[in-house]
Amino acid sequence: MAVPARKTSKTRKRMRRTHYKLTVPGMSACPNCGELRKSHYVCPSCGFYDGKEVVKVNN
Ligand SMILES: [Zn+2]
Repeated sequence: MAVPARKTSKTRKRMRRTHYKLTVPGMSACPNCGELRKSHYVCPSCGFYDGKEVVKVNN
């Protein structure tokens, strides 16, 4: 089995992990309220989709 010639340093490991995403793929910020929502879904916090209010949200 191939073994890495050098140990990955703490810094190198941490630099690599800066690219790890905090958000689940398929989630994006709502352009209206900035809340995280599923893409291609009506925003659950403001009821907007494609720049229009399509659902009334009580808040
Ligand atoms: Zn929203």
